[in-house]
Amino acid sequence: MAMNTTKPALLISACLLGQPVRYDGQAKGQTPQQLVALTTHFQLIPTCPECAGGLPVPRPPAEISGGDGSDVWQGTAKVMTADGQDLTTAFTNGAEHSLDLAQQHGCQLALLKANSPSCGNRQIYDGSFTAQLQPGEGVCSSLLRQHNIRIFNEEEISTLLETAGRKT
Ligand code: SF4
Repeated sequence: MAMNTTKPALLISACLLGQPVRYDGQAKGQTPQQLVALTTHFQLIPTCPECAGGLPVPRPPAEISGGDGSDVWQGTAKVMTADGQDLTTAFTNGAEHSLDLAQQHGCQLALLKANSPSCGNRQIYDGSFTAQLQPGEGVCSSLLRQHNIRIFNEEEISTLLETAGRKT
């Protein structure tokens, strides 16, 4: 049976591939089975927007204050640490770097870490540093979405694979 050997490019949060780039120096790698499925079906393009924005590992946890990622791009919300450090510029710079990378590789799909102030696609923490989630998207997810890149999180890998299956 003839197979389509062209794999679509998938932008992916580096921490989901096991890279220890999270604020606490940890990773959130997926199961070997999931990684095999992803590498079978996609050309993986890893990115960590917070590292790309110049932030170190480890780094203080940050949350969006005053809205979500789309509000950050509109200038009505900021990314702050619990002790009041404004990291908005690093987050937006890193998001722009990740968008450039995605566009260079022709990514139309992204698999990004849920709940992150950069990568979250459906929920983010509410800015109170009390572990409360609220509906919203992260800074990088918002920018990618505005450029027509469809975003999935690690709980949505099966849907992502189905979507890619229909596309190839
Ligand atoms: Fe993972 Fe995104 Fe946070 Fe980087 S910014 S550690 S890729 S969730």
